Amino acid sequence: MTIEECKTALVFGGARGIGAAAVERLAKEGYDVAFTYVSRPDSAQALVAEIEKSGRRALAIQADSADANALRGAVAKTVDVFGPLDAVVVNAGILRLNTVDAVSLEELDLMIDINIRGVFLSIQSAVPHMKDGGRIITIGSNTAERTGMPGASVYQFSKAAVAAMVKGLALDLAPRRITVNNIQPGPTDTDMNAGAIEMLSDRSPLKRVADPKEIAGMVSYLTGPDTSFMTGSSLTIDGGWTL
Ligand code: NDP
Repeated sequence: MTIEECKTALVFGGARGIGAAAVERLAKEGYDVAFTYVSRPDSAQALVAEIEKSGRRALAIQADSADANALRGAVAKTVDVFGPLDAVVVNAGILRLNTVDAVSLEELDLMIDINIRGVFLSIQSAVPHMKDGGRIITIGSNTAERTGMPGASVYQFSKAAVAAMVKGLALDLAPRRITVNNIQPGPTDTDMNAGAIEMLSDRSPLKRVADPKEIAGMVSYLTGPDTSFMTGSSLTIDGGWTL
């Protein structure tokens, strides 16, 4: 691969789960991939080693998505090492479940900070360093459409905010041909659902949860040539959960 063909991606929240699957998939497709993590330096370093074994470059950067300076620093470091960005995936997110009577102010603020404010700030930090024609992908959730169970109101509105956010960002960035799209996964086999996989599989029309690789496949689709005319869209991939 020549220097001109070399592609660069940054995944916010890439050390495990859906984010790690996206990092692996992008590396397989020829990207040098930087990713942030907050709590899992072990997983982050293991992923870097795995990608480097496959011949691509990888960079793990500790950056809390609630910290605007840390996000700007992560982008600056990525661009310093790899150059301007072709693709940005904003995956970092948290889930806290509580019915309205029990939601604490602390968990309300935390979910807003990471799932909404952090998504916007990640994109705002990256945009000045993206190539024209680049791709931005957020990982929202099918809960933006329907949860079907109590206790998820804050998570639900945080993900609905992401679906709304991509529409405005798509218009802002259209003059640079940068597309912005949102993936809305359903229940997926990650730490986020530890202990709940059987229950979630049982409630799913397809009687299983997603493999993170299936969500990474959608990331690949949205970074690929077939979606250059798609922007501002939210794509749900949930085994029929929201039907
Ligand atoms: P995991 O809990 O397995 O992983 C969460 C990821 O987010 C990790 O990479 C974690 O980093 C990162 N993260 C969390 N908080 C922060 C923070 N403050 N700053 C930076 N990074 C942070 O979750 P999933 O892989 O399941 O979820 C990934 C995304 O997909 C989330 O946005 C989630 O809401 C969404 N989603 C998940 C579904 C599911 O069923 N699993 C369904 C629908 C949407 P670290 O490893 O360092 O802790």
